Amino acid sequence: MRASPAKPTVIIIGRPNVGKSTLFNRLVGKRLALVDDQPGVTRDRRFGDAEIAGLEFQIVDTAGWEDEDAESLPGRMRKQTEVSLEGADAALFVFDSRVGVTPLDEEIARWLRSQEVPVVLVANKAEGKQGDAGIYESFALGFGEPVALSAEHGEGVADLFDHLWPIIGAKAESAEEAEEFDEEDEDAVAGPLKLAIVGRPNAGKSTLINRFLGEDRLLTGPEAGITRDSIAIDWEWTDPRSGEAREVRLIDTAGMRKKAQVVEKLERLSVADARRAIDFAEVVVLLLDATRGLEHQDLKIASMVLEEGRALMIAINKWDVAEDASALFNGIRAALDEGLAQVRGLPLIAVSAKTGKGLDQLLCAAFDLREAWSRRVPTAALNRWFDDALEANPPPAPKGKRIKLRYITQASTRPPRFVVFGTRLDMLPKSYERYLVNGIRSKLGFEAVPVRVVLKSPKNPYQKD
Ligand code: GDP
Ligand code: GDP
Repeated sequence: MRASPAKPTVIIIGRPNVGKSTLFNRLVGKRLALVDDQPGVTRDRRFGDAEIAGLEFQIVDTAGWEDEDAESLPGRMRKQTEVSLEGADAALFVFDSRVGVTPLDEEIARWLRSQEVPVVLVANKAEGKQGDAGIYESFALGFGEPVALSAEHGEGVADLFDHLWPIIGAKAESAEEAEEFDEEDEDAVAGPLKLAIVGRPNAGKSTLINRFLGEDRLLTGPEAGITRDSIAIDWEWTDPRSGEAREVRLIDTAGMRKKAQVVEKLERLSVADARRAIDFAEVVVLLLDATRGLEHQDLKIASMVLEEGRALMIAINKWDVAEDASALFNGIRAALDEGLAQVRGLPLIAVSAKTGKGLDQLLCAAFDLREAWSRRVPTAALNRWFDDALEANPPPAPKGKRIKLRYITQASTRPPRFVVFGTRLDMLPKSYERYLVNGIRSKLGFEAVPVRVVLKSPKNPYQKD
């Protein structure tokens, strides 16, 4: 395993009983730290993995200042905190907004101001309005406006994201990128490209597969069935861009196999067969017949592929006998964009299974498409785009009520799924959702990929469930 850049570290600091452990627990999402009503319950430093809406960091709960007397801070405890502060990327300085600012809080604040670490002031126990006076008082501590929250009830904890992001976002991003790189390197994008070719009968699927295999003497299959009805054919294709051999695993249905082995006239590849192939494929090529154009059935298969979240591309076969080629190509392009509004700009490639034209181009596009389909956008870049998108076109305020979109995180890849957190999301018009989806596609490199966006406005969006 390769060494990865470390996640950023955030340290929780504050006098006893302000709710540091409760906040720690909240951020790691587990009942790890001991919470006690009695001030001065001694604890060791605790480390946990925390996450707020995709922003990942290590959180440290310090033993803290165990003495309420500002004049005699026990050196031992202070030492402990100082050690923790070394190498910390940010500090959450917690006070009890119901109690207000105490002399000990002031002492800690003085000390923290002499340190290098960026400080985010946290007004805890701020549920209801009971902390308002304390919040006002805390401006005097010199750390600006505090983040008012309730660690116990979870309210406002997500707001920490906005304050931590500018401080630790970049570091979190590089840690995440490194991790992602490792992951992708090891499995997804490095393995054989799982490719399915679907289309109406006579589009030329079998001819295409025979062409692929016939041209490529490195055929190692056919191999044992994935299911009773499908087989995988492994072969190698030489990528003309790099000269490297790349593995392709062709998913073939029973019907195709028979024909590929030139055994007998095969039964027709039905929509059900296509569905089976889609299940196993990363990238699906929908093969059209240039002499027939785009038909309703083709759009039906295409929609199905996209609904299943697979990367889809279109190949127009029999280009060698196509009439009025450019009009045909443009016509199909327009019909696709209209008929498949959910994904614009699908890769569209003219091929001839008979002559071999366009086949390298088809495979190049298929590999590229898989890469986009498997890609993770680092949280920092994603939120940078998100901020810009909201600024360029703010969400509407139906009936004067502001819809607040707070942040976005990529929940998964293959296919890419995004979660947008905010409030009053049920009032967000579909057109705005489309605006976001289109932005993700065009600005973040998911042009031809089925992208899913989910809106979420839970009480505790940072909480793992
Ligand atoms: P620590 O000593 O700073 O780690 O504080 P703890 O996390 O042990 O919490 C001290 C007490 O404050 C416990 O009784 C918690 O239940 C309580 N507490 C923590 N957070 C909140 C909060 O947001 N609101 C209220 N009302 N009580 C809280
Ligand atoms: P499938 O039912 O989709 O597997 O289609 P086939 O591979 O059986 O092809 C149907 C017919 O189209 C056959 O007669 C093929 O020879 C012909 N065909 C396939 N590809 C091409 C092509 O690129 N150019 C031309 N002119 N004919 C093709």
